[in-house]
Order: sequence, then C-alpha cells, then structure tokens
Amino acid sequence: MADVLKKVPVREQEAKVRATNFEEVCYGYDKEEAVEEAVRCLNCKNAKCIQGCPVAINIPGFISKVKEGDIEGAYKVIGESSALPAICGRVCPQESQCECKCIRGIKGEPVSIGKLERFVADYALEHDIKPQKAEKMNGHKVAVIGSGPSGLTCAGDLAKMGYDVTVFEALHELGGVLVYGIPEFRLPKEKVVKKEIEKVKELGVKFETNVVIGKSTTIDQLMEEEDFEAVFIGSGAGLPMFMGIPGETANGVFSANEYLTRSNLMKAFDDNYDTPIAAGRKVAVVGGGNVAMDAARTALRLGAEVHIVYRRSEAELPARVEEVHHAMEEGIIFNLLTNPKEILVDENGWVRGMRVIKMELGEPDASGRRRPVEIPGSEYEMELDTVIMSLGTSPNPLIASTTKGLETNRRKCIVAEEENGQTSKACVYAGGDAVTGAATVILAMGAGKAGAKGIHELLSNK
Ligand SMILES: Cc1cc2nc3c(=O)[nH]c(=O)nc-3n(C[C@H](O)[C@H](O)[C@H](O)COP(=O)(O)OP(=O)(O)OC[C@H]3O[C@@H](n4cnc5c(N)ncnc54)[C@H](O)[C@@H]3O)c2cc1C
Repeated sequence: MADVLKKVPVREQEAKVRATNFEEVCYGYDKEEAVEEAVRCLNCKNAKCIQGCPVAINIPGFISKVKEGDIEGAYKVIGESSALPAICGRVCPQESQCECKCIRGIKGEPVSIGKLERFVADYALEHDIKPQKAEKMNGHKVAVIGSGPSGLTCAGDLAKMGYDVTVFEALHELGGVLVYGIPEFRLPKEKVVKKEIEKVKELGVKFETNVVIGKSTTIDQLMEEEDFEAVFIGSGAGLPMFMGIPGETANGVFSANEYLTRSNLMKAFDDNYDTPIAAGRKVAVVGGGNVAMDAARTALRLGAEVHIVYRRSEAELPARVEEVHHAMEEGIIFNLLTNPKEILVDENGWVRGMRVIKMELGEPDASGRRRPVEIPGSEYEMELDTVIMSLGTSPNPLIASTTKGLETNRRKCIVAEEENGQTSKACVYAGGDAVTGAATVILAMGAGKAGAKGIHELLSNK
C-alpha cells in the first residue's frame, strides 16, 4: 500500500538526458497517480492551503473533484479563481505558499497541490474544455497594458464580468516573462502558454501586439482619444541591473533577461533559427535566484560548462528549492560565497575571465539575511568566455514618464493600492512586477485580480 505520509512521486526526465535537450523536465501525473495523490487530501473545513494561495483557489474543492474522477468539474472550480492553472501548476513556489500550509505537512509531506493543479489544467487543455464566458457585455471599455500574468488575469476577470477589454503588448508575442523569460524545459510555450492564452481570448479579450505604450500611443491618449474608461498597467519589471564592476560592457557579457530572450523568444537554441547567442564553452552566471538558475540551465543545454557565482551560501539561495536541486543534478557547478570583482577582457574586447573573491557570512543585514563579507587576500581568477548577470530587474520608466500624474517610488515602481490596484491617477490601476518589482507569477495574478475588482467597483458605479 502507498505511504500516505509521502507524495505520490512525479516522473521526470533523467538528469543526464535532460541536460542536453530543451524538452520539459517534469512529466506530471497521469490520472491514476493524480487520484492516488488527491486521496491524501484531508478536505479540511478551515482549509489553510486556500489562505496560502494569492488567488484563493478552492483547493480542497478541486481536489475532491479529482478524487471522484471528475476532472472537468475540478477545472471549473480552479477556473473560478485562476485563468492560468497549467502555468501556475508548473512555476508557482507552492512550497512556500499553499503546500507549506497543508496539514498533511505536519507529520509527513504536504499534498502535491501544484502537481494536481497541473494535471487538471493539462487535462482541460487536451480536452479543450471551454472557460465560462460572460452572458452579456456591459458596454464599458477597458485597456490593459502588458500581456504577462497580471495583465492576462486582469483582462480575463474583466471579460468574464462583461467588459470590452483590449490588451496592448509591446512585443510580437503574448505572455510576458512566461514566453521570453522562463525556459521551454520548465514551461512549454506551444503546449501550455499559448493554449492557456487562447482560453483568455475565448473569453472575448482582444489583443494588439507590437504596441509600446509611451511610444506608439500613451495612456492619456487611450483615455482621451480612444474612449477607454479605465486602464490597468501590468508592464512588469524588465529592466536589468548590473554590478558596475570593470569589464561589464565587454562582448560576451549578457543580462540574464537578454540571454533568455535570445533563447526562448528568438529560439537561439533551435538550429532552424539564426539568432546569435554566445553559447560559450565556460559560462558564469552571477546571482542565485530563479532567473539565474534558468540562465545557467539554458547555457548548460547549449553545451557549456556552467558556474553559478553567488555571494552568500546555499541556505540563502533565493531560487526555488526544486530549481536548485534540478540545476545541481544536471551538473551546474556552484561557486558559493564568491563575489565578482572584475570581468577580464582580451585585446579584442571579449570576455576572457573573471576575478572573484571569497566571502564569509557576517551579521544579519536589513533583509534579516547574514551579510556577506569579503575575505582579504582570497581573490582568484576564473577562466571564462561568457558572463551572464542575473542581479534583478526594475520596471522600465517609459510608462511613468509619459503618463501625467502617475506616481512612482524610488525603485521606479508604480505606486498602487494593494487591495484594488488604484494608482495616483484617476481611472488608472496597476499591479504585478510593475508595482512590486520582480516577484512571482501568482503574486502578479493576484494583483491582476485586485485590479479587475478595483476597475469593476469604479465602472459599475458610473
Ligand atoms: C527568467 C525568469 C524566471 C522566473 N521564474 C519564475 C518561477 O519559476 N515562478 C514564479 O512564480 N515566477 C517566476 N518569475 C517571475 C515572474 O515571471 C514574474 O513575477 C511575472 O511574470 C510578473 O508578471 P507581470 O504580468 O507583472 O509582468 P511580465 O510577465 O513582465 O509582463 C509584462 C508585459 O508587459 C509588456 N510591456 C512592458 N512595457 C510595455 C509598454 N510600454 N507597452 C506595452 N507593453 C509593455 C512586456 O513586454 C511584457 O509582455 C521568473 C522571472 C524570470 C525573468
């Protein structure tokens, strides 16, 4: 008999094999495995897991449908709260949200809520189960800027309430970080992201690509000349940060965003595309977050020996535990407690290495984490031909600088109310990374929902 204290294990591609391809790492549950895992759910009356979910999915509700084998019913329950479950089932940090609240987790492993969500959502995509559309339109026109998870969620929720919604996207592809940032081997684009965006289109949302708000047109023009009654800004935080060390402008230095965009969006990994990418023989990725893991695992699959260079220890790595585990299994070399001092450049202007210094952990800093301190005399050189900087991102100032009366803070983030997304400008709402700085898909979705609620409160009272 299966051990109820443990999750039903999920099948994955073998580490050695997957390190050489871009196919999805995790295969997910089949129906039999999903039902077996669902049976572990205790269906708590006061379900703490729901409190852990930023979009408050009725988790015991959908899991009991899975137990009964009613997968379409389970999808309907999830669909009341989330428009992107196949995506969230793959990339949400469940271990620090719903699953960390699961009562099963006190004595054993929590219920595998993320993998169950993924199973239900994939089933709905495979069987083309339609989302619930609005019965009638209410005549109000709303613009959404950006087609990442915050914009898609806001647009989907408003469309379900009968609003006429148009999403304006700067890029030629829809999805934001879901398409240009998170790699194919974690989040398949054709099989998952595009299909889930199709479901948002089926709700009646219109999309216009290649429209850069702040250049092609402005928020003020959308409202004054094109009769949009409210605007939601979900423009993300796509502007990369650098360290400011010598050599950072050399050829062969990338921001993680640029590196990943070349691979994911411009398909540099695919021989049928001629997008240049310095695949590199020896690559260092500076940083320890999810983005750093994605860049490192992409470089590995492009054939490089890959080093993570991170100034704190393994315990402080900000990336998801699952991502760190996968990266280690695949053969990424972790240079922990190590910090770059200079990028070494050859006579032709290309990276030839990096001078780094060993660190130790001192007293806790303002973030509560122990501050890394240099160990004098411990500098050494790494021989490299590519350096990828993954130090975080901030919002692009374009929208704020072209919209009258839109307040931002000193981190260039748009200032907005948490519960309804209201900004300093009337009828303009915002949410997701544009407001919080780089965060997570599910928090962006939660902010999109809050924005939709705020806009509905505004326009339904008009
Ligand atoms: C490589 C990488 C890996 C990540 N991995 C994870 C993960 O595993 N789990 C997780 O939860 N989170 C992860 N994140 C974070 C997560 O993807 C983001 O927090 C989330 O996508 C933010 O959503 P958003 O809608 O606010 O913005 P975005 O997804 O950034 O979307 C913003 C959209 O707005 C568009 N836009 C910007 N400016 C304009 C303009 N002026 N006019 C029109 N359109 C504009 C952009 O082109 C983009 O499409 C990762 C991020 C990165 C970069």
